[in-house]
Amino acid sequence: MASVYQQLKEALAHEPAFRLRQIQAAWFDEHVHGYSEISTLPVGLREALAAFPWMSVVTHTLLISKQDNTRKALLKLGDGQYIETVIMGRRSLKVTDATGALDRYTICVSSQAGCPMRCVFCATGKQGFKRNLSAQEIVDQYRFSTDILRPEGARVANMVFMGQGEPLLNYQNVKEATKILLANTDLGETKITVSTAGVPSVMEQVLTDDFPPVRWAISLHSAIEESRKEIMPSNKPGFLEFLVKWANTYHVRFPSRTHFIGLEYIMLGGVNDDEAHLQALIALARRMPHIRINLIPYNSISDEPVDNKTIFARTSSERIEYWHATLMNAGFTSTIRYSQGQDIAAACGQLKNTAQV
Ligand code: SF4
Repeated sequence: MASVYQQLKEALAHEPAFRLRQIQAAWFDEHVHGYSEISTLPVGLREALAAFPWMSVVTHTLLISKQDNTRKALLKLGDGQYIETVIMGRRSLKVTDATGALDRYTICVSSQAGCPMRCVFCATGKQGFKRNLSAQEIVDQYRFSTDILRPEGARVANMVFMGQGEPLLNYQNVKEATKILLANTDLGETKITVSTAGVPSVMEQVLTDDFPPVRWAISLHSAIEESRKEIMPSNKPGFLEFLVKWANTYHVRFPSRTHFIGLEYIMLGGVNDDEAHLQALIALARRMPHIRINLIPYNSISDEPVDNKTIFARTSSERIEYWHATLMNAGFTSTIRYSQGQDIAAACGQLKNTAQV
């Protein structure tokens, strides 16, 4: 079944290309609430589009963390599928501009309903893959978040593709959504981060085509090929060598200081947190220019063993601190990223449509 966005584009097939751009601009106008209200469109076209839903996502459930005010929304799509969007609770920054104090938040958006990558620590991966999201369904997660934050005098300042799905397996729609957001919001290229578990053929495409120069985060989780394959069954043989070459080429293409590559590392007790893994990470990272290493304490997703594997344990705080200090001493920029919204299963790796009934 064609997505609502595809149907909208088909309805515009005989219109000049700028009509779609006018519609996309109107999506972000807080004073417009439907296609019939877009004053830049001819009356006949407004009437023809009036029946289209103004938002392609509908709120099913909104959970609010008591720990840190993180909001996790279970959103229903037009065909009955569900996705999740997280508004991180901790304010990233508080600034004052002409309109007064503004609270600025980071949102975590989904690119697919479910995910086919099957990372063993991830709740989404265990749900399986349902389908790719349309560009509008991605954009509408931003619009939904803005609608939540606006009454609070707050706004979206950063967006990360770290919700459900592997963005590079939905490349064209992620690219289109990113371009729409860059053209119509105050999100800049360095305020959008695309996180990937690694799809080499598409990563190569990123270096040569017109994908906007946003920030990239690589879900690494092990710098030892065999154990990465255990943790991330989608790992392609030779991926780590590919990653080194890709990062070096990326740096040549985008040498600016703002275009560092994030290496994400979920620390799984007894799985990828021993000295051998630490030294392998250092050795790999030394071959990659301009990177930042984010250590992520594991967030429990289940009380049950899954796929015949034992339940993962969280690496101790002492060990995480040791890794962090060792990486810093080795000259890397590194952070420990404590996830927000753990009490509502909104933290990294926990998204699995939990409020769905
Ligand atoms: S961690 Fe990301 S890529 Fe891996 S299964 Fe979960 S959603 Fe998919």
